[in-house]
Amino acid sequence: MTKRIVVAIDGPSGAGKSTIARRVAEKLGCIYIDTGAMYRAVALWASRLGVDLTDGLRLEQLAAAAEIQFESGSSRLLLNGEDVSEEIRAPRMSQAASKVSSVAGVRRALVAKQRAMGAESSVVMEGRDIGTVVFPEAGVKVFLDADPRARAERRVRELRDKGLEADAGEVARELDERDERDRGRADSPLLQAPDAIYLDSTALTPDQVELAILKVIRDRTSNGKELSN
Ligand code: C5P
Repeated sequence: MTKRIVVAIDGPSGAGKSTIARRVAEKLGCIYIDTGAMYRAVALWASRLGVDLTDGLRLEQLAAAAEIQFESGSSRLLLNGEDVSEEIRAPRMSQAASKVSSVAGVRRALVAKQRAMGAESSVVMEGRDIGTVVFPEAGVKVFLDADPRARAERRVRELRDKGLEADAGEVARELDERDERDRGRADSPLLQAPDAIYLDSTALTPDQVELAILKVIRDRTSNGKELSN
């Protein structure tokens, strides 16, 4: 008999979650869900409408009303039918998403959407609170970390690869600020679930991280035979 599985990958910004979660999902034939992109989409909508990022009630309304879809087979995100994949990656959206995500009502609305996605199919979901809040019963939980310097360097490379300007010191400060906010917020702070496997990717290649996570999945799911889509 096969059953659906949730692979939860949490950790701070720049630890390599997206790259790895995407690869693992592809390997397993699961849907990949980048929950950070969902917070970014709400932040983008709020900024387009000129909504103040401290207006919790309005932000919650937007989060609840937002139609968020991940295009299957790609990492494109559609917000109310519009492809906003590029726009949500702008550095100022990182900060805005981090602010928006500390509003309890926004989290409530997006967590409900995330749970609905995980109820439909096997998923690899990455974020900050997947193993602790969204799917505390997830079959596989990984907390992916890396030292702050390595994380900042990766983010700089990522931005430059996209042709964006990136000042190393500024990127490091920006990551630091976001992490502080994510770890310190009252609702769903970034922390490792007690039953998550801790993985430090500082000295590992993406291939090595992928292998390590696939091994955890095999160990926890009798060779992955339980998987169904
Ligand atoms: O993962 P990414 O850096 O794109 O996420 C953007 C922001 O969204 C994070 O800095 C964090 O504040 C927030 N976030 C969150 N919970 C998640 C995913 C992201 O609070 N599950």
